[in-house]
Amino acid sequence: MATAVRTNTDLAFQRCLTPDCGATYDVGEVRTGCSECGGLLDVAYDWDRLPVPDSLQVFEQKWARRNDPLCRSGVWRFHELLPFAPPEKVVTIGEGQTMLCPSDGVGKFVGVNSGGLFLEYEGLNPSGSFKDNGMTAAFTHAHTISAKRAACASTGNTSASLALYCGISKLMQAVIFIGSGKISYGKLSQALDYGALTIQIAGDFDDAMQRVREISEKLGIYLVNSVNPFRLEGQKTIMYRVLEGLSWQVPDWIVVPGGNLGNSSAFGKAFLELRELGLIDRVPRLAIVNAVGANTLHELVEVRGQRWNGGRVDHQAAGEYYQELDKGERRASTIASAIEINRPVNYQKCLRALDVCQGVVREVTDQQILDAKAQVGASGLGCEPASAASVAGARLLRREGVIAPSDRVVCVLTGHQLKDPTATVAYHTTDQQEFNRVLGSRGVKRAEFANRAVAVPNDLDEIIRAIQLNS
Ligand SMILES: *Cc1c(COP(=O)(O)O)cnc(C)c1O
Ligand SMILES: [Zn+2]
Repeated sequence: MATAVRTNTDLAFQRCLTPDCGATYDVGEVRTGCSECGGLLDVAYDWDRLPVPDSLQVFEQKWARRNDPLCRSGVWRFHELLPFAPPEKVVTIGEGQTMLCPSDGVGKFVGVNSGGLFLEYEGLNPSGSFKDNGMTAAFTHAHTISAKRAACASTGNTSASLALYCGISKLMQAVIFIGSGKISYGKLSQALDYGALTIQIAGDFDDAMQRVREISEKLGIYLVNSVNPFRLEGQKTIMYRVLEGLSWQVPDWIVVPGGNLGNSSAFGKAFLELRELGLIDRVPRLAIVNAVGANTLHELVEVRGQRWNGGRVDHQAAGEYYQELDKGERRASTIASAIEINRPVNYQKCLRALDVCQGVVREVTDQQILDAKAQVGASGLGCEPASAASVAGARLLRREGVIAPSDRVVCVLTGHQLKDPTATVAYHTTDQQEFNRVLGSRGVKRAEFANRAVAVPNDLDEIIRAIQLNS
C-alpha cells in the first residue's frame, strides 16, 4: 500500500489509524472508517499551528470564568486540546462537571494503601454516565455539518445521552436502536422521557449495532456510536480532569471497564497527545476490565497475544475469533449490560491505547462485579454494575501483584447508581426467589456485602427493638 501523502491543510482533520495507509479526510466529512483500508479514523491536529497552552494549569484557571459555558463545561474547558470545531458551534449543557474522589473504603477492598485509591465519578454527568463527554463532541460535529437526525445503537447510556442532547438543544431528532430485553429500566426510561424515536430490535447489542450502521448510511442519518471519532475527542477530557484532580500529577494506574472500548481508546489518545505536546512527562498504566461473559479483548490480548505492533494489527485474528463465536452461537452475557458487547468497534484503537500505556486486560465475573459494586455503594457514591468492573479488576490486579499496595490507582466509575436499580435491589434483597431470578441465572451465588432491609410488624415496640438490635 502506498503511503498516502497528506493533502489536507486544515488544522484539524481525520486520519486513518493504519500507519501504512494514513489517508486523511476533511474534518467536515461524516465517516465511520477509512475508504482506502477500512481502518478506524482518528481526529488529528496540526498542533504546531495551533495555540496550545504550555502548561496544564491554564485549564484549571478557566474555572474562574465559569459564567462562560465553554469554561463551565468539563469538556470544553479543554477546547485547545480538542480544537476540531469553532467555539461558536459548540453544543454544551455543562457536561463533565465530575469529580475525582479519594476513597479509603474502596481502597481497603482493593488492597492499596490509605490515600492511594481514587474514584473518577462520571455518574455526575447530566444523563448520568460518562457518555455525555463524548456526546457533546459528536453532537457539536453533527451541528457543524448541519445534521438533522442522529442515530445510535446502545446498551442504554449512549441513547440516554443522545436523547438528552436532542431534547435540550432541539437541533436534531434522536433515533435510537436498542436490543430487546437487554436494556435497564433506568436507561430506557431516559430515552423515552427525553422524546427520542426508539426502535427496539429483536436481537442483542451487536445486532443493533450492525443495523444502525446500515440504516444511517442508507438514510443519511448522523451516527453517534463510539466508532464516531469525535466522541472519543470529548472522552479524552475524563483523563484531563483526573490529572487536574491530582494537581496534574500522573497516577500509576487508570482502571476502566471495557465494552466497545471507546473510553479506553480515548484515554490512550489523550495521554499520547499530552506526552507529544510535552504537557506530561510520563503516562500512567492502563487496565481494561472485561466481564467474563463479554471478554473479547481479554481473549484476543491476554490469551491470543494480539498487539498494536506499530499499527500493523492482525485483523484476521479478531475475524477468526468472531467466527468461532458465531459457530458456537456464543452471545455476550453479563449483568453489566453496558459492557455486554462481544464485537468491540474500537478494538484497533484500543490496542494502541494498551501500547501507549503499557496496558493490561483482565476479566471479572458477575459475582466479583456485584461485590465490588456493593463496596462502591457502601463507600457512598454508588455506580451501575459495569462501572464496578473497574474496582473488581483493580482488586484482581492487586492480588496478582501487578498493582502494588503503594500505587496510586484511579478507577473510573462510568455510570450512576440509579441506572440499574434492578441489579442493586436483587443483590440486597431478602427474597431468595428474586435473587435467583435476577442474579442466580448469571452464576451469582451470594451477596457477601448485602445490606438487607429488616422486616418488622407495624408495632412501635417491635420497630424500636429492631433498631436497637441492628445498631
Ligand atoms: C458505555 C459504557 C461502558 C463501556 O464503555 P466503552 O467505551 O464502550 O468501552 C462502561 N460503563 C458504562 C456505564 C457505560 O455506559
Ligand atoms: Zn486507511
